[in-house]
Amino acid sequence: TAQRKIRNFAIVAHIDHGKSTLADRILELTDTVSKREMKDQLLDNMDLERERGITIKLNAVQLKYHGKDGVDYVFHLIDTPGHVDFSYEVSRSLAACEGAILVVDATQGIQAQTLANVYLALDDDLEILPVINKVDLPSAEPERVKQEIEDVIGLDTSDAVEISAKTGLNVDKLLEEIVAKIPAPTGEIDAPLKGLVFDSIYDDYRGVVLSVRIFEGVVKAGDRIRLMNSGSEYEVTEVGVNSPKPLPRDFLMAGDVGYLTASIKDITQTRVGDTITLANHPAEKALPGYREMIPMVYAGLYPTDNAKFEDLREALEKLKLNDASLEFEPEVSEALGFGFRCGFLGLLHMDVVQERLEREFNLDLITTAPSVTYHVYLTGGNMVEVENPAEMPDVSSIKSIAEPYVKATIMVPNDYVGAVMKLCQARRGEFVTMEYLDDARVNVIYQMPLSEIIFNFFDKLKSSTKGYASLDYEVDGYHASDLVKVDILLNGDQVDALSFIAHRQFAEERSRDIVRKLKEIIPRQNFEIPVQAAIGSKIIARTNIKAYRKDVTSRIHTGDPDRRAKLLEKQKRGKKRMKAVGKVDIPQEAFMTVLQSD
Ligand code: GDP
Ligand code: MG
Repeated sequence: TAQRKIRNFAIVAHIDHGKSTLADRILELTDTVSKREMKDQLLDNMDLERERGITIKLNAVQLKYHGKDGVDYVFHLIDTPGHVDFSYEVSRSLAACEGAILVVDATQGIQAQTLANVYLALDDDLEILPVINKVDLPSAEPERVKQEIEDVIGLDTSDAVEISAKTGLNVDKLLEEIVAKIPAPTGEIDAPLKGLVFDSIYDDYRGVVLSVRIFEGVVKAGDRIRLMNSGSEYEVTEVGVNSPKPLPRDFLMAGDVGYLTASIKDITQTRVGDTITLANHPAEKALPGYREMIPMVYAGLYPTDNAKFEDLREALEKLKLNDASLEFEPEVSEALGFGFRCGFLGLLHMDVVQERLEREFNLDLITTAPSVTYHVYLTGGNMVEVENPAEMPDVSSIKSIAEPYVKATIMVPNDYVGAVMKLCQARRGEFVTMEYLDDARVNVIYQMPLSEIIFNFFDKLKSSTKGYASLDYEVDGYHASDLVKVDILLNGDQVDALSFIAHRQFAEERSRDIVRKLKEIIPRQNFEIPVQAAIGSKIIARTNIKAYRKDVTSRIHTGDPDRRAKLLEKQKRGKKRMKAVGKVDIPQEAFMTVLQSD
């Protein structure tokens, strides 16, 4: 059957090992994209991805490959992100494939996300093809890296292709390996339809566009489909594949990866992981779907203009279609008004969500400092979960507080083990063990509070190891800690959105730091503003923002009209990101000061 000619695979790797560049070469070699249309990291089509040079979203494309055996193959390739915050995109991609291409940078070797991705692929029983990339670089050590893959992961590397995704060297050999090693999909074409929804996006004209992997049966325009978990039914308006532009097709059949539209406007009815089937000839059982992701950090998102609250709700709902790991629920802040408490997989994820909401939905937002979920045990015996420091119950009613811990695995060259241990210890880490990977590198494993990881731990780790360390972590239960809530008062008024939770031992130092930073960030006004940090009613740090003198008002003294216009524009933009709390204007950066402290 036609299925014998199909190969479905995802490209996975640690960040920057060359996944997207390899996808470029494959698109080129298969003439999927003409030389004229070709550009670097073509599949990173979001502005944000191009600006930051990272892949954020999975991207599935169909290509035709004319094999050396004379057969025309159909490949469905899925490029995936490498950053740990987007690993949900990877696991969803893998569930749509039979194989995974594991790209390993020949100058770096195995890194933390290389391992994490291998485990994900093994969970799905995928065929893993290791590929050694960047062999054009003088510092490449393909033999050493192959040995490492054999020793650490236990994959056979005797057939691993040594490529340069940049120059295209040996990418043709890799294509033949894909044909030879990755199994063709199986699945009955005559069986009732079973398709996995692995991604979705909202389109103003077409409604929800579902990315689907068909496992059994056939689907075409005009079919009435049912989403098996939500129970909702729709008539299919179009099916097709991305190549990489959408190309409508007559049908999608078992083994295919493509898209489907059905004028779905009710966005709450579609969830990734759901199974589509035919309404009048349904499958008996839905596909297993996906594990729900548990957010690691929470932060408040508020429109700078309170009238935009409903717009923000709609934007979040639409964005969730394309970002299944996003969670949100409404909350109210005295300082910021109506907004949403959102759950994210990490700080990069949070940053990307804010940027996407602002760019794709034209909103101006204020984000509060991220927090983890605390388990607060009350003297009455109950436990409450607290995601927002402002909602911490009164000290008098708290028996104890527990916080989430992670098992952090840090992969690092021997020389930096000391530096890593010092950093982890300073972040309340408890040493667990050390595993030697080969004679040059070790895995250092620590148990640490998640909150210590989210406060710029990664940057510190990179800077103290000259960029050589890589980090992976997984949640490892809750442990009681001596935590306190610190409130910030401006001009005597408590600003709920600035409250934070800290270990008692570090509360004072951190408060002094934050108070000092707030003094720098908050613009002077025509009266003196006391800035204070307090635990309960006890002030633990304070400073004053002096009133401005008459002659240094923010009025613009310049004769040059161009410059004047520019300055005014700057002020206006800055103003947009300010929130007046009582009589004090607080800029966006203030809400993030907690993060910059060390
Ligand atoms: P991804 O994060 O895995 O998708 O990695 P990218 O494809 O975005 O590549 C990361 C960086 O490595 C980019 O600057 C690429 O130009 C570079 N790169 C990728 N493959 C090669 C290669 O084979 N040789 C060299 N010299 N650089 C490469
Ligand atoms: Mg990429």
